[in-house]
Amino acid sequence: MHDLVIRNGTVVDGTGKARFAADVAIDGGLITAVGPNLGAGKQEIDAAGAIVAPGWVDVHTHYDGQATWDQEMAPSSWHGVTTVVMGNCGVGFAPAKPDKHDWLIGLMEGVEDIPGTALAEGMSWNWETFPQYLDELEQLPRTIDVGTHVPHGAVRAYVMDERGARSEAPTEHEIARMSQIVEDGLRAGALGFSTSRTILHRSVDGELVPGTTATKEELIGIGRAMGRVGHGVFEMASDLKRDWKEFAWMGELSRETGLPVTFAALQSIAKELPLEEQISEMRAENAKGANIVAQIALRGNGIVMAWRGTVHPFRFRPAWLEIMNLPWAEQLAHLKDPAFKQRMISEDNQFPESDLIGLIMVVAGGWTLQYEMGPDFNYEPQQGETIAARAAAAGVAAVEYAYDLLMQDEGCGFIYFPILNYADGNLNFLEALQEADDTVNSLSDGGAHCGTICDAASPTFMLQHWVRDRAGKRITLENAVKRQCRDTALLYGLSDRGLVAQGYLADLNVIDLDKVKLGKPWLAFDLPAGGKRLLQKAEGYVCTIKSGQVTFRDGEYLGVHPGKLVRGPQAAPVAMAAE
Ligand SMILES: [Zn+2]
Repeated sequence: MHDLVIRNGTVVDGTGKARFAADVAIDGGLITAVGPNLGAGKQEIDAAGAIVAPGWVDVHTHYDGQATWDQEMAPSSWHGVTTVVMGNCGVGFAPAKPDKHDWLIGLMEGVEDIPGTALAEGMSWNWETFPQYLDELEQLPRTIDVGTHVPHGAVRAYVMDERGARSEAPTEHEIARMSQIVEDGLRAGALGFSTSRTILHRSVDGELVPGTTATKEELIGIGRAMGRVGHGVFEMASDLKRDWKEFAWMGELSRETGLPVTFAALQSIAKELPLEEQISEMRAENAKGANIVAQIALRGNGIVMAWRGTVHPFRFRPAWLEIMNLPWAEQLAHLKDPAFKQRMISEDNQFPESDLIGLIMVVAGGWTLQYEMGPDFNYEPQQGETIAARAAAAGVAAVEYAYDLLMQDEGCGFIYFPILNYADGNLNFLEALQEADDTVNSLSDGGAHCGTICDAASPTFMLQHWVRDRAGKRITLENAVKRQCRDTALLYGLSDRGLVAQGYLADLNVIDLDKVKLGKPWLAFDLPAGGKRLLQKAEGYVCTIKSGQVTFRDGEYLGVHPGKLVRGPQAAPVAMAAE
């Protein structure tokens, strides 16, 4: 008798081939049979009318702190994700000297908008070296598997102290030491190395992430650790300045190590290279034997603005500055006061001095770029849904319209502002990229940007929008599943998952595609120390199964924790004898 049998479902197996009717049997955490008329299971799930697909593999997350204390791993786990890779973008918490804890927290808070108080209260800091951090992760079983990169920022501060934090150049000896630390991390089970090269990533004090301005010598010098160990992915978020010639060194490193280099490919105000050039430069290097992979987001990366979010359009008005530190109940009382409202919408902004002033100004008044975010919001809004358009139609000033939107639901209304990936006012540019084999679905930033986004919901969005509802060109379910399971898993050498086939990990989603729906986002204050985060639930996941155990059923967390730390690449199963 099998441990579990999923019966009568339609299998979308992750290879990209057409769906087929089959039962799926699971024993000992692995898929043991896929086919008709399988024997009985101790537990059975009726998947009639539903899709049976592998669990999602999300390779771009920032759960580095949360994964040390939280077993549920929301919000990714609520959206059918069964494996996450974290430690992206050069930030993380190991290695860490004891006197650098607060500094690393400030870095994560600034770059990824994860409340520092939550991190300080949540983390044990029961480690100093990267291998010790992995041991700590291994102590806590959870709903999903986690794997991680060694982050450049932490390594640099560990080796170079203040000089590393100030982005000074390392000596040759220091490069060698950093490379050794990365090598030790990879040998202990890290899946790669990550770095940040964007001015958008800063600590809470406004400092750039250590390594932001690192030279090619430093990046290649450290990256060679991957070649010595024989595995690893080099991940990078970069502004892609023309004179940095990023693709040249990425190509060089990839060819030398024989390993993948992956970067965040976005339409971004901070990137000098337009997205088409990012892709064509990547392809030119790949034509010369490199393996560079573009990480693409499936929707506009932007911010969800709310009174209690991290930013909103009134953030720089004197009236807001007066009440910004009051408890919410008192803030709300002021915001409801018509005289206060009148004053705030009529006064001028007081902008800080900043090299991001262009961005600050559109946050504070880019009404043609900001959208009303009502129920059933589809994340590919049309021009008629901008605040400017809606305000004009309603015959009120845009600034007042924006104020009133934020006041909805007792001051819990939202405005959507896609800063990145929405320059065209639509997502058409992603149509071809989702058919390409040198791009992967990514950039969910799960666990991060807690006060501004909830893109951990990306796989659900993919099903709802790109597969089912989109007005323009859609993608097939088979391709979507392959991209979000198999392709992402293989990039990180996780050959044991991402397929519904005999011998693979029994990480599965049973999905009622007609019912798939993103819930309304809300701000929760449930991180340690009451830290806030934007959350969003999903409908349509009949159940999620991790290593053969049902972890979520109809959206309900069942409190079982089959997920583990993934150490290093995982081999594909050896073909098993048919039962
Ligand atoms: Zn990131």
